[in-house]
Amino acid sequence: MPVSCPVCDQTYEPEPGFYFGAMYISFAFSTGIMLVVGLLVYNLLGDPDTWVYVTAVALVSLLLTPLSLRYSRTLMLYLFGGTRYDPKYAAGR
Ligand SMILES: [Zn+2]
Repeated sequence: MPVSCPVCDQTYEPEPGFYFGAMYISFAFSTGIMLVVGLLVYNLLGDPDTWVYVTAVALVSLLLTPLSLRYSRTLMLYLFGGTRYDPKYAAGR
């Protein structure tokens, strides 16, 4: 991860350990993913064996881990880092 944004110079780590809180946001994402996958498996496959649930949840969780990590860091920056969207930088990329 770069130290700051190459376009608008926003620092990506406002203070040491800043992203510790992103763990909790990531945990919420994981819980949501597990619930949705579990419900989808239940409804689409008609309540299969437990190993099907475990496999489906593990597979989807692993596949979505990069997205979950990035979005939890982004949310952390927006919620607690004072970062705001500024349309004047939107065309700069
Ligand atoms: Zn930027």
